[in-house]
Order: sequence, then structure tokens, then C-alpha cells
Amino acid sequence: LTLAKALAAIVGAENALDDSGSLAAYATDHKERGVPPLVAVLPATTAEVQAIVRLCAAQGVALIPRGAGTGTVGGAVPEAAAVVLDLSRMNRILAVDADNLLADVEAGVVTGDFQRAMEKQGLFYPPDPSSSDTSTLGGNAATNAGGLRAIKYGVTGDWIAGLQIVLADGQLIRAGTRTRKGVVGYDLTRLFVGSEGTLGVIVGLTLRLAPKPATKRTLLAVFADVRQAGEAVLAVLRGPVTPAAMELMDASALAAVRSKLPAPIPPGHATLLLDVDGDAESTAREAAALAEILAGTKMVALRRSASEEEAKALWAARRAISQALYEIRPQRAADDVAVPISALVELFEGVEQIAKKAGVQHACFGHAGDGNVHVNLLYDPADDDESARVKRAREEVFRLTLRLGGTLSGEHGVGVAKRAFVPWEQPAALIDLQKRLKRAFDPLDILNPGKVFP
Ligand SMILES: Cc1cc2nc3c(=O)[nH]c(=O)nc-3n(C[C@H](O)[C@H](O)[C@H](O)COP(=O)(O)OP(=O)(O)OC[C@H]3O[C@@H](n4cnc5c(N)ncnc54)[C@H](O)[C@@H]3O)c2cc1C
Repeated sequence: LTLAKALAAIVGAENALDDSGSLAAYATDHKERGVPPLVAVLPATTAEVQAIVRLCAAQGVALIPRGAGTGTVGGAVPEAAAVVLDLSRMNRILAVDADNLLADVEAGVVTGDFQRAMEKQGLFYPPDPSSSDTSTLGGNAATNAGGLRAIKYGVTGDWIAGLQIVLADGQLIRAGTRTRKGVVGYDLTRLFVGSEGTLGVIVGLTLRLAPKPATKRTLLAVFADVRQAGEAVLAVLRGPVTPAAMELMDASALAAVRSKLPAPIPPGHATLLLDVDGDAESTAREAAALAEILAGTKMVALRRSASEEEAKALWAARRAISQALYEIRPQRAADDVAVPISALVELFEGVEQIAKKAGVQHACFGHAGDGNVHVNLLYDPADDDESARVKRAREEVFRLTLRLGGTLSGEHGVGVAKRAFVPWEQPAALIDLQKRLKRAFDPLDILNPGKVFP
């Protein structure tokens, strides 16, 4: 039996794709390009996943778990002959336990679909990657996705009570508990969170929920430069109110979306975009408290949303940045470094200097409350010289990040895009320990081989 036929016997011929048209789509994620897989297989049940894993283990074929392919570091992309395991058909919300604020879902549920389904029941699933309309909950768990609300609510891993995982030998395990607390044995749930498909296939998740906040208010604070905006970030974090989002856009990012700004902001300036959420009374009180804290900083102007529509208008420019950058140059090196929050300003200013020295355009914006900055270096791939300058500048940004006590990825992960740089951040002994863990979970090295570590 050929591999495709054996896989078709498990999932049905229509769910074992081996035509070149279908396979081409699996050669990329949102950014990186690899090679088409031998077969893309789309199981509908955990038993099918187990059978697929056992077959690949028996035949020694690499298996690459994939959610929606919105990753940006090549984690779901084959680099050599492999089967892609597309979990998008496993998209059922299995149970909602409102008393215990838990939900059981399959790994392929689209994040935004889940958020909306919970909101209909007055419940709230806070992790909110900007890709939520397409990314999957399994992919979010495998990358420990962050998002705009992480400053107040944390990242995906903070909302996972347990995971159901198919191991490299086809065995199904359940890590975690259905309790608020639980310290029996090692925290294997956390080990699988962020493991980028290298340790096991996540087939199900038990997610934590919260009551849905009734309202939200948005504030936009304008500063003469990024230094003053950075000082305001620290003032806000020291204050009594934890915003539900706090996004910093520097002059380079604002320049990219100038035509989309709800009110003109002078060149060179920087902004902080903040949300507070809760019930109507606490939200009004918190918005007022935040405005007072900001008034005590070097802020030059403050806009407050009076309605949901105005809040959306204030957020529209922030959401438009990534796409607007393609109007400036056709390609960008987009990284998501994170530094201690007190080093934010040094990072923004340092990136500006690096870009200037390299003679390349850049745009920086980020989740200020997490010290997590999206650094974009823009270039034209047809221009070899500019491409080489961006490559060198990117490495300088990584060195700067590490000098500031930061990490090379705050949310997107390593995949293939940052693999070569992991030894810049972690000592050999730590990398070796993680490789030994990988061997313990996947002795045949069939699950996403070669990813994450060089
Ligand atoms: C427009 C846009 C905005 C984004 N915004 C954010 C953001 O705000 N925050 C953020 O953190 N990221 C963001 N991302 C990156 C990306 O969306 C996240 O990393 C997301 O969690 C990936 O989910 P996915 O289902 O698309 O996974 P994929 O891209 O398919 O896979 C990502 C990794 O997870 C592994 N994987 C996927 N599913 C499973 C599974 N069931 N079991 C085991 N391993 C699995 C894959 O092997 C791969 O290594 C953004 C991307 C885009 C394109």
C-alpha cells in the first residue's frame, strides 16, 4: 500500500490529499516557504489521529501537525519529505461547564468561533491573538499564542487547564486537571504548551473561562516621542488600574498608517492605545483613573472613546499597520522580540538607530504592557543589497534584545525562522536538556523533526 492509500484507508480518500494543487498550499505558513508534503491528511477523530501517528511511526515518515497555518515562523511547514496532519476538521466544541468555568474543545476549533460561542453564553475566553478569525485553539496552544489582552489576562497557556495529546507512539494521554489547582506530578500541560508540534499532537483542550466583561472603553494618549510614551507605560503599570490592552506605536508605525488615523498626529510623535474593561461602573472609574495617571505624564493629548464605534475607529489604525507596511516595501522581516518593560524605550530607540545605520525603513509597535515589540524591517526581495542589509540589521536587533535582557520571541515561537539564533539566547546545556526531552517523547524523531533547535 502506498502511503497515500494507507492514510486514505484511515480517513477516507477525500481527506488524504496528494494532488500537487492541494499540497502546494501546505508548503507555506503565513510567512515561511518550505516544500510540499507527500500527503496532507485531515482526520476527524482522535482515533484517526492515533492511527495516522502509528502508521507514520511504523514507516519512519515525519509528521507535521498543522492548525490553520497562520504561524509566521515556519513551524507547520515541511522542510523535507513529510506528512502534514491538518487538524482543521476536528472543530467541535464538546462541552461547556459554566459552573466550573471550563470548556472542552477539539484542537481544530477556530479561536474566534470559540470566543463568540462563549460570549453568547455570557462567558469569556480572553486569549486573543490578532489571527483569531483563522487560527486554531490547538495551534494557539502549540505556540502559546499571546495577544492584545495579555497584559491583563495572560497568554493562551494561562487559560489551559488540560490537554489531550497523542504521543509519537500513538498513545493518548491527558495532562492537567479539571480543578483550579493541581500539583500531582510534573506540569506536563505547560511542557506541551509552546512545544510547536515537536512533542505530541494536541487533539483536545480543556480551557478555562471567565465571566464576560460587560463594557470596554478605549483611550488614545499622544506623546512627543517614544521615550515619553515609554515612561508613561511604566507609570500606568505602577498605578492601580491594569488595562485590558496597552499598545505602543512609535513614529515609524504611525507614519505607515498616517492616512488611517482618526485624528492627525504630528510626525515624530508616539501613541499609547489603552482599553479598560469590566462592568459599566468599574470601567468608567478605571478609565478616569487611567486618564489621571496619564495626565501626570508628559502626554500631549488624550482622546477617549464615547462609544463602541469610536473605540473601533481608534483601534482601526493599530490593526491596519501590518498590511500598510506592504505599501511601503514589498517584503518585511517581522520579528516579535520581548524585553523587560523598563527596557522598552531602549529597544525602540535602538531599532531606529540600527535601521538608520543600515539605510532601511522600519516600523515598530507592540504590546507595551508585555514588553513585546513587533520589529519590522522593510525591503524589496528583488534588491539583493537591501535584502542583505535587512538580514544584518535583523541580527543586530536580536543582539540588542538579548543585551537588554530580552528574548527573541515573545509570541510567535521559533519554528525554522529563529532556529539558528536559539544558541544566542540559551546556553548549550539548556538546549541539550530540551533535546533530551524531545528524544524521550519522540525517540524516532518523527514529530516536526528539526524544528525549534538547530
Ligand atoms: C495576521 C496575523 C496575526 C497574528 N497575531 C498573533 C498574535 O497576536 N499573537 C500571537 O501569538 N501570534 C499571532 N500570529 C501568529 C499565529 O497566528 C499564531 O502562532 C497561532 O497560534 C497559530 O495557530 P495556527 O492554528 O494557525 O497554527 P499553525 O500555524 O498551523 O501551526 C503553528 C505551530 O503549531 C503547531 N501545531 C498546530 N496545531 C497543532 C496541534 N493540534 N498539535 C500540535 N502542534 C500543533 C505546528 O506544528 C506549528 O509548529 C499572527 C499571525 C497572523 C498571520
